Amino acid sequence: MSLPRGLPVVDHHCHLSPNGDGVRAVERFRAAGGTHLFLATQNYEGTVPLSLEAYGRQFEVTSRLAQKVHEEVGVRAYPVLAPYPIDLVEASTKLGPAAALELHCSALDLAGRWVREKRAVALGEVGRPHFPVSDEVAVVVEEAFRHALQAARDSDCPVVVHSSDLTADGLLALAAQGREAGLRPERVVKHYSRSRVAPGSAGGVVPSYLARRDLVREVSTDPGPWFLETDYLDDPKRPGAVLDLATVPRRATAIAEDPAQGADRLWVPFVESVERVYGWRPEVSPEGAAE
Ligand SMILES: [Zn+2]
Repeated sequence: MSLPRGLPVVDHHCHLSPNGDGVRAVERFRAAGGTHLFLATQNYEGTVPLSLEAYGRQFEVTSRLAQKVHEEVGVRAYPVLAPYPIDLVEASTKLGPAAALELHCSALDLAGRWVREKRAVALGEVGRPHFPVSDEVAVVVEEAFRHALQAARDSDCPVVVHSSDLTADGLLALAAQGREAGLRPERVVKHYSRSRVAPGSAGGVVPSYLARRDLVREVSTDPGPWFLETDYLDDPKRPGAVLDLATVPRRATAIAEDPAQGADRLWVPFVESVERVYGWRPEVSPEGAAE
């Protein structure tokens, strides 16, 4: 393997499930050279949470998974927590839009508290459904997103945004919305970015790129901040629906082995961008273990 010693290798967005491949997926990540994961929460119970207690349980599962992969595999996993924006669709039907919004905002405040207690590093995923919703739900979604941005400002942390693909104008609008809520654009990450964002064109919003081979090649010499992610879903019913968790370290190895690029490039997504957006650097011990 030609990844340099001491280089953290970071997947910036994935999910793990206690009922999925879980630790085995992280073992593949580690074997390929991976060291750190940003572990986004998800709904683990098969139904949309309809109480704050249910969200609390969900966040606990994410936190336990993060501890488990650290203890069993030596990979550091940083929890990223929030009620999933799409939960609002079903919760609005079941509880009514006003109660659904109230629950969602309480769950965002709970996630913010976890960040302040250093049990999570960002609020995510927050944002908007990637499909059309009724006008009534759309109003609630916007209100919830504003609340998410304010909660991130209050907890001094980044937001990881879920939305449909955004054009440069959409990214600029997102930067403006963040600023309105008191959040610097560098604290706004567009997760699942599937096309290159030309440096300087997004108002400072940070792309987290899906680690497809062509896209990685296209962006690998861009100045930061930007990230690589798989959005690995760990759903045994949908094998191969997304990139495998081993993908980011494999792409990193390809860059390191390419004489036209080289391993120096990798400090941008894996270390410098984390420092710019989150305020700290992931580190690897001299023995190669994530710290
Ligand atoms: Zn995700």
